[in-house]
Amino acid sequence: MAEKKKLDLTRRAMPKQPPHIRRRNFSEVALGYTSELALAEAKRCILCKKPTCIDGCPVDIDIPAFVRRIADGDFVGAIRKLKETNCLPAMCGRVCPQESQCEAQCHLHKKEAPIAVGRLERFAADWEAAQGHVEMPEMRAPTGKRVAVVGSGPAGITVAGDLIKLGHQVTMYEALHEPGGVLTYGIPEFRLPKRIVRREMDYIRKLGVDVVCNYVVGRTKTLDQLLEKYDVVFLGTGAGLPWFLEIPGENLCGVYSANEYLTRMNLMRGFAYPRSSIPIKRHGRVAVFGGGNVAMDSARTAMRLGAEEVYIIYRRSRLELPARLEEVENAEEEGVVFKFLTLPVRLIGDDEGWLKEIECLRMELGEPDASGRRKPVKIPNSEFKMPMDAAVVAIGNSPNPLIPKCTPDLKVNKNGTIAVTDVKTGKTSKDRVWAGGDVVTGAATVILAMGAGRAAARSMHEYLTGERLAGTTSEVTTQG
Ligand code: FAD
Repeated sequence: MAEKKKLDLTRRAMPKQPPHIRRRNFSEVALGYTSELALAEAKRCILCKKPTCIDGCPVDIDIPAFVRRIADGDFVGAIRKLKETNCLPAMCGRVCPQESQCEAQCHLHKKEAPIAVGRLERFAADWEAAQGHVEMPEMRAPTGKRVAVVGSGPAGITVAGDLIKLGHQVTMYEALHEPGGVLTYGIPEFRLPKRIVRREMDYIRKLGVDVVCNYVVGRTKTLDQLLEKYDVVFLGTGAGLPWFLEIPGENLCGVYSANEYLTRMNLMRGFAYPRSSIPIKRHGRVAVFGGGNVAMDSARTAMRLGAEEVYIIYRRSRLELPARLEEVENAEEEGVVFKFLTLPVRLIGDDEGWLKEIECLRMELGEPDASGRRKPVKIPNSEFKMPMDAAVVAIGNSPNPLIPKCTPDLKVNKNGTIAVTDVKTGKTSKDRVWAGGDVVTGAATVILAMGAGRAAARSMHEYLTGERLAGTTSEVTTQG
């Protein structure tokens, strides 16, 4: 009888820069697995007969297959397997919330030691890049069909990558001067180095996608004008319009939306000023309002800019924090102070219009609300003030209304997201137009945006050619 494999419950830790050093630099925090660590981690996989990890992945990565190849030392095979279904493995390996997706479904999760799928994915992608040769996929013969993709974030990149491989001619239009969406302008260098985003964009260009920057659809040309030139259009314009608290004092100097704060830092490289042209003020005490990934990124950025005190002000408790646990722990290690059950109610300025204090109220948790989380309830007469030099509002975003405003027959929902007639395909109310990613779901995650892009690409291909791609979504990229 075959001997039962002994479970290895030691998840290999990610090597990182020590907190006291990394809190003052913008270099990547996580250093990546070595080959030895990757082999040891991959060998922990028990190769379940029914691998549930795949169910947790919105782009259907064959996780056991790529992990097994790493365990066998076949790194080329591992990256090939990954790229069958994921055109952005270096990014997903870094920023996907694996703890609530594939890793949450891992059988070893019950033993509190799931396979570190994201770390292995990142390892395979970085290993390939380090070899200096990136393998190109097989391409189908040209179909003569023309596709416009609006927005160059993960949703748009996935649509462009999938459709060009299927033989269609793809042009991607991006409003900003660099492509990549939130991966470029939002997620900071210390979590996702921009050379990696550029590397992935180079790959998309090498596939033949024409990337046109500084092109705002709705201003440079309308959606209807694009439809005169293209057979189909995909809208992947994200959710880049920041929400505000709408409390007194939000217009004071020193109060930023997270969107502006992070764009100045990432896209405009404000941290390198005066070597870069866009300055960013370095504040001593910074409060960040919110509890998601955007709030963590803003707080950790403020810390790296030299702030002495950085606070996350969050109206619920630690249990309800929507940010990835790993990033919360990183922020804590770097010295960010969390003020839970605290609601900002007023921002107070000095005589010159600069922020000098924030006034907050203490909260307690009541009954669960529509989101299923316990509702924060104000405690009367619990106001208190904190001296503060800057505040960053990171409480959420919604889609920019520009394209719907100049396209009356494109239906939108009450919350400003584009309405799709079929969530499985992303088809919109307008003929020959599909949409996906944050512009449809509201602010979500990279992998969900990619999953939506994959589904839309399949549907657009079927519309263009009449061919229904067989099997799972993954076959869009494997038919090559
Ligand atoms: P986006 O990435 O927003 O890209 C849309 C693109 O469209 C943008 O480049 C925009 O300039 C362009 N565009 C908009 N309007 C037009 C127009 N009219 N014409 C032309 N171009 C236009 N998710 C995770 O999974 N893990 C994380 O750790 C994580 N951290 C995050 C941190 C921050 C700071 C932020 C802001 C988000 C984070 N997210 C994270 C969420 C994730 O980045 C998004 O869900 C994802 O990028 C959405 O992809 P998308 O393609 O729909 O849109």
